[in-house]
Amino acid sequence: MEVISSIEEIQQITLQFEREGKKIGFVPTMGFLHEGHLSLVELIRERSDILIVSIFVNPTQFGAGEDLGKYPRDMERDLSLCRKHKVDYVFSPSTEEIYPKFASTYVSEEMVSDGLCGHARPTHFKGVTTICAKLFNLCRPTFVALGQKDAQQLVVLKRMIRDLHFPIEVIVGPTVREADGLAKSSRNSYIKAEHRKDALLLYQALEAGRALVNENGIRDVDPVKSELISILQTGHSLKVNYADIVDRETMKPESEIEMGRSILIIAAWVDKIRLIDNMLLG
Ligand code: AMP
Repeated sequence: MEVISSIEEIQQITLQFEREGKKIGFVPTMGFLHEGHLSLVELIRERSDILIVSIFVNPTQFGAGEDLGKYPRDMERDLSLCRKHKVDYVFSPSTEEIYPKFASTYVSEEMVSDGLCGHARPTHFKGVTTICAKLFNLCRPTFVALGQKDAQQLVVLKRMIRDLHFPIEVIVGPTVREADGLAKSSRNSYIKAEHRKDALLLYQALEAGRALVNENGIRDVDPVKSELISILQTGHSLKVNYADIVDRETMKPESEIEMGRSILIIAAWVDKIRLIDNMLLG
């Protein structure tokens, strides 16, 4: 496995593979890798000739007062996990390398980004689309693996890929969870033992909402939303950001539940940690 931090070097490597007709599989990450990230590597292994993982904590997707400085990092551990999973290249540039001094070009998606996480974090998705456009240009993937865990980000990136004509196929990986149901996230390392029960409420609320729909046949969104919120409100350290039922492709609120299209989606702060989770209905 090679670790690359220079733009020039990654360009030389990926352009050469492109000339040779090799299929590049790519997993963009912010590091502090866990089984969710690694499941994405495995998901595209078979169809890819070359596997690239990027590790970059992207400052432009963090707003003022968010946890950029505190975001967990452990490069040695990440590299050893990538080696274990037979990744070919880790691309891990510095901020200065990726955002040159007078950079003034950004990419923004303007439909799906507006709402849900886009309300609480107004500059977040512009940071995500900008860094992913840069990474796609540099790593030249045939396949990019993205997690369903970040449902809104997934749709924003699918739109950007379509709208800007990136020749990339998106492969979506299901959410990998802890044994108790908590969706794996690099930020889980911050959750204090006494708040773990509250963090679990996101999953418990989603499961209860799903049961109302699947087992009780409810298709009206209001009782399901009320159920989500009443479960989340039992957490003393939990503050709800949103709990909604949206269309999985547009991320706009549904008036009626449509099986296979509607998702339950939640964001909440547990103590000071922002957690998100979602579940497809049907
Ligand atoms: P991040 O490092 O948090 O930016 O995530 C990098 C990629 O891993 C994104 O496509 C995420 O959706 C995906 N991912 C994060 N957590 C999980 C999880 N628990 N299960 C599956 N994919 C995940």
